[in-house]
Amino acid sequence: MTYSASKERYATMKYNRVGRSGLKLPAVSLGLWHNFGGIDTFENGRAMVRRAFDLGITHFDLANNYGPPPGSAEEMFGRLLATDMKSYRDEMVISTKAGYYMWEGPYGEWGSRKYLVASLDQSLKRMGLDYVDIFYHHRPDPDTPLEETMGALDHIVRSGKAQYVGISNYRAPQAREAIAILKQLGTPLLIHQPRYSMFDRWIEDELLDVLEENGVGSIAFSPLEQGLLTNRYLGGIPGDSRAAGASVFLNESSITPERLDKVRRLNDVAQERGQTLAQMALAWVLRGGRVTSVLIGASKVSQLDDNAAIVDNLSFSDEELSRIEAILKS
Ligand code: NDP
Repeated sequence: MTYSASKERYATMKYNRVGRSGLKLPAVSLGLWHNFGGIDTFENGRAMVRRAFDLGITHFDLANNYGPPPGSAEEMFGRLLATDMKSYRDEMVISTKAGYYMWEGPYGEWGSRKYLVASLDQSLKRMGLDYVDIFYHHRPDPDTPLEETMGALDHIVRSGKAQYVGISNYRAPQAREAIAILKQLGTPLLIHQPRYSMFDRWIEDELLDVLEENGVGSIAFSPLEQGLLTNRYLGGIPGDSRAAGASVFLNESSITPERLDKVRRLNDVAQERGQTLAQMALAWVLRGGRVTSVLIGASKVSQLDDNAAIVDNLSFSDEELSRIEAILKS
């Protein structure tokens, strides 16, 4: 059936300014790392992209290697852009990345200018786009000088293939250096994409301060710890969950009794707040306004409904925050 976006799509979602840029991102963004590849059901992916957009989720995050097989998430998204989403391109912020292994030989991964420019060209072809809104360097490269990698990002913006640039998985000192180089080149760093959740708080040590000082935004990936910080695993491992599937990133061994005990106690706090645990975990990442957007994944339309509804309750009392802190530190 032809898709026509909901007229209510901007009624409830919150949009946060990315650092000191002019761009705003929805409080909840959708990532296509899992569940949108060649091995997944196209119609389910299509239903999720449509529903996300109807909920005001204007930002879709991809990477060259998302699938599996690598590249297939971009191809799938390209199909949707050519059909359902065709008339909405200017209402969408589409990002992709390069950094991880994509093709054989010395030019198929990491951070050389050779790799980054070629990879973005391939991504644009797969998605049928002239440009992406944000292009990221996906992970730091220990071998390539940062000047070359940042120079490639600057070149990419100047050539019109990306509107803004980002970095992902950079530690605070590297991020500081990257910010300085890009500033000098005249292409400010828009955003950093780190992993951040109740169970992984490394960015609180230094990175968030570096970003704030420099007017750079942040978008937290795996804010639900791939599903662990939800009610998904409270009664065992469901057959249709990521932990039960082929993903090498979350498996049975990640779901330890100690973690489940914390998840149960966090779930009690969420229930008292009148929220699902997923909603509380996402609202917690956004607390204090230091993170621009939470970058979620989803396997079902119902999860998008649940997650987008966080905008109804984003605030925490001091008492709730201390209870959560005590559980996380226990
Ligand atoms: P999440 O932590 O949000 O985990 C998503 C999973 O959680 C879903 O697949 C689903 O699991 C479960 N889930 C989501 N919502 C709910 C809900 N309301 N109730 C119950 N379960 C729920 O994020 P991801 O790990 O998927 O990462 C999100 C995005 O971040 C990626 O798509 C990608 O764009 C980006 N990313 C970036 C990386 C980087 O290096 N820059 C690395 C990793 C991710 P199930 O499938 O079991 O139903």
